[in-house]
Amino acid sequence: MQISNNFQIAGLQKTSLIDYPKKISAILFTQGCNFRCRYCHNPELIPFNQGMIFNITENDVLNFLKSRKHKIEALCITGGEPLLQSGLKEFIQKVKKMKYKVKLDTNGSNFELLKNLIEEKLVDYIAMDYKAHFDLFGTITQVPESMFKEISKTKDYLINSKLKYEFRITILPKFFNDDDILKLAQELKGAKLVYLQNFHDNGKLLDESLAGELGFTINKLKDFQKIMKKYVKKCGIRD
Ligand code: SF4
Repeated sequence: MQISNNFQIAGLQKTSLIDYPKKISAILFTQGCNFRCRYCHNPELIPFNQGMIFNITENDVLNFLKSRKHKIEALCITGGEPLLQSGLKEFIQKVKKMKYKVKLDTNGSNFELLKNLIEEKLVDYIAMDYKAHFDLFGTITQVPESMFKEISKTKDYLINSKLKYEFRITILPKFFNDDDILKLAQELKGAKLVYLQNFHDNGKLLDESLAGELGFTINKLKDFQKIMKKYVKKCGIRD
């Protein structure tokens, strides 16, 4: 697994009312990802380094958080894939010392680090992108199917943990049908919260052949929700 040799920050969104459930948060984007999801909306965040100039440093972010105490309550760390940043744990320790809640978005491919962060109470909320069931995993992520083992470990660990978490699945008609949703539901059996996220072409997709593809209708999403609800505790739709 490729791991960045420090903490590469690609950007900071200073305020979000929707990213951390029921809290005002800031969003930090890390640079670099080990997946190549066809529908990736942030393909510019995939390469590590690549000669990019990082205009924002870790200290900039920490100083920003210091200055916003009592105005924002949480930091959401997203990517790219944050768990590939070798300096992530150290960074989060500093953020937690400032008493911020921390939410982590992940593709679940670095089980050991995620487990360690949870055990050391360094994260308060995890949003795991569950890309696909086993048979579809390679098609969607364009990485070897062998990585699915790691994903499964993370998924099982979260399902059995007391931590607040959600699984998010981005779905589009080109790859997902009723059978796929059923397989996903079976793999996620017992999960506390799953969101079905509809696909939208935002104009910058990694796989350009998906340009112009449409997402599902709301009625179809509701059908999928019914299937999912038979297996998980709660299933929401993000259209
Ligand atoms: S959508 Fe996939 S490729 Fe894009 S950042 Fe997330 S995990 Fe990486």
